[in-house]
Formats: sequence, C-alpha cells, structure tokens
Amino acid sequence: MADRTGPLKSGFLDRRTIDEKGGQTMVDSRQDEQEVRTQLAQACRVLYMEGLADYNLGHASCRGPEADRVLIKPRGLGLEEITPDDVIVVDLEGNVVEGAHRPHGETIIHTGIYKRRPDVQSIVHVHPLFTAAFTSARLSIKPLNQDGVFFPGGVAMLESPELITTEQQAQALADKLGQDNAVLIRNHGIVTVGARIEEACLLAIFFERAVKLQLMASLFGEIVAISDETVWKMYDGFKQNPKRNEEIWRYMVRKLGREGLALQ
Ligand SMILES: [Zn+2]
Repeated sequence: MADRTGPLKSGFLDRRTIDEKGGQTMVDSRQDEQEVRTQLAQACRVLYMEGLADYNLGHASCRGPEADRVLIKPRGLGLEEITPDDVIVVDLEGNVVEGAHRPHGETIIHTGIYKRRPDVQSIVHVHPLFTAAFTSARLSIKPLNQDGVFFPGGVAMLESPELITTEQQAQALADKLGQDNAVLIRNHGIVTVGARIEEACLLAIFFERAVKLQLMASLFGEIVAISDETVWKMYDGFKQNPKRNEEIWRYMVRKLGREGLALQ
C-alpha cells in the first residue's frame, strides 16, 4: 500500500495528509489582487460552462494576497456574467470591504471555512442538478471512472438542507468538512475546497460528472465500481502528476473563448 503520510507532491490537497499541512500557502505572494480577481471571474465562467450553475446561484471565492481579504462572487449576477470588477471583497467576518455588489446570503460558508482551514485558498459552493439529486438520495459515491477517483472514501453529508447563513450553521458545515476537500449538503449541493482556485472548481466539476455517470450506469443495471485499493492507487497517481489537472484547467480556460464566455 502506498505511503499516505508523505509530503504533498502536487498542488492538490491530499485527502489524508492535509491535516499536516496547516498554514501551507500555495498562492504566489507576487500575485496581486487583480490577478486573483481575473482568475476568480474565469473560474465562475468555467463552472457555468460545465453546467454547474443553478440560475444565478452558486459562488466561488479565493483568499486575497492579504490573508484577511476574501475575494468572492457577489449575489445577483450569474456565474457566467462575472467580470474581475464585479468581484467583491469581504473580511473574515463577512463584512463587505470593497465592491459595489451585495454578498450572497451563504458567504459565511466561505469565511467559516477560511477561519478553520489555513491550508484552504479557494472554495466553491454550487447546486448543480445531478449533485443536488445525489444529495436527495441515500447513496454513497461509487468511483466508476477518473472523475470518481478524486473522492476515495466518500464525501461527508451535512444533513440539514437549509441555507447556511448563521455562524452556527457554518461551524457545523466546517466540522463536517473536517480536513477533507469536499462536503455535501442534504437536498442542496456541494462545497469543495482547494489550495488553488482550479482545484476547488475541478473537484466540483468532477463530482457532478461522477454522480451523473453513477446515475446513468445504474440505469443499465448492477454497478461495478473501481475497487477501493485501485481507487487509492489511481488517486495517488493523479496526486503525483499535477500536470493532469493543470492541463484540464488550461483546456477549460481556452474553451471559454470558443464558447463565447471569455473575459473581454
Ligand atoms: Zn447553497
């Protein structure tokens, strides 16, 4: 069995060893806030392009270069409408410190996790259709392809389906997330976290695709999932090859242009 306690070898948070990585920061200190705004706007558009929008709901955030500033998608606009200038800045208490738009009611999901997880640099919360359907069933995720491999051991579920708008709810969600990189909310959606914005986004995209595939496969008949041992082996392989996901992300950003969604 592979060593599960070794140093992190890629940009991806390790589901088993991230608790040893507290305080790790993977944002380049030279990166200024404008770059983070651009990356966040692009990320919102990728989430839309990949079918993760729920009307104008769902949001993504990044820590700014200054740790107490959180850059986040505002309420009102759709994911595909976000430009760098639309991004608002909140402090870790959720107060808007910069920007013309109002914050989403569930902004506390983000600030609650950032306060607890110094290793987390970016958070995505979305309600995509297949993920929402999955959270409405008594099921566990079965890794059937490469998308599912990113969730070895399953994903925890917060049983309350309510909007997360209070400190108490945010704490319950952060508790349920623990040191993992994803958590589900019953009859609601998913929260994914990453050491980079592309990581948090890709995890949400991979999860949506994995449960969509699981539904389709179950219609054919009995599901044959990848064995536990092989899933962990594949997961380790992906973790040690960060280029795989970096290339997928670059492809998605190029695809934004072909889909007419690129930032102008
Ligand atoms: Zn929500």
